[in-house]
Amino acid sequence: MLKVNEIFYSVQGESTYAGLPCVFVRLTYCNLRCTYCDTEYAFYEGKNLSVPEIISEVKKYNCNLVEITGGEPLFQMNECLELMKQLCDQSFEVLLETSGSLLIKEVDQRVKIIMDLKCPSSGMLKKNLYENINYLKPDDELKFVIGNREDYDWASEILKEYNPGNKCKILFSVVFGKLEPIQLVNWILEDKLNVRFQLQMHKFIWHPETRGV
Ligand code: SF4
Repeated sequence: MLKVNEIFYSVQGESTYAGLPCVFVRLTYCNLRCTYCDTEYAFYEGKNLSVPEIISEVKKYNCNLVEITGGEPLFQMNECLELMKQLCDQSFEVLLETSGSLLIKEVDQRVKIIMDLKCPSSGMLKKNLYENINYLKPDDELKFVIGNREDYDWASEILKEYNPGNKCKILFSVVFGKLEPIQLVNWILEDKLNVRFQLQMHKFIWHPETRGV
C-alpha cells in the first residue's frame, strides 16, 4: 500500500516537459521541511491505495505521461519503486520528482528523474545526497531552486565541483515570490552559465496556491 495525497490531471509546470498534459500522483510524506515548501498539505494527508488501484486511477485520464511527486515520493521507497516499475511495464512515460535527499540508485532505468539539490535558503542543505549525482542519466534533470545570490553562487560552485552538466540537464528556477526571474536570468547570462532557466508555469496559469494543478 502507498499513502497517496492526490491524483490529478494537469499540464506539467516544470522541467523540459513543461506545458505537456500529465497525470500527477502525489505521494504523502516528506523527510524535509524546506522554508519555501508549497505542498505542506502532502506531509500527512492521504489515503492508502494499492499499486493496481493507483494505476487504474491513472488510466482514467487516458494520458501517457505520469509524474510521481510529493512530498518526497521515495520516502515510501519500496512501494514507490514498484509503482514506477509497473507503470513503465505498462508503457507509461514516467517522471519522478525527488528532493535529492534519498538514494535514487534503485529507480528503474526507464524513469526520467527530476532531482533537486537543495540550496542554502531552503534550510535543507545538509540533507543533500551528493552521491545521487552519480546515478543521473542523460535524460534526467537536476534542478536548483534559487532564492537569493547566496543560493546562486552555491549552485554555480556545485556545477564546477561535480560537473553534473556532463551527466544530465541542468535547471535553474527561482523561489516563487522570493527572487525576481529577471534577476536570475541576468546572473545566468552574465556568467554565461550553460543551464536551462525555468518558471513554475502552473503558478502563472492558476493562482499560486491552487491545489491539484
Ligand atoms: S522536499 Fe518538496 S515537499 Fe518536501 S519540504 Fe521540500 S519543497 Fe516541501
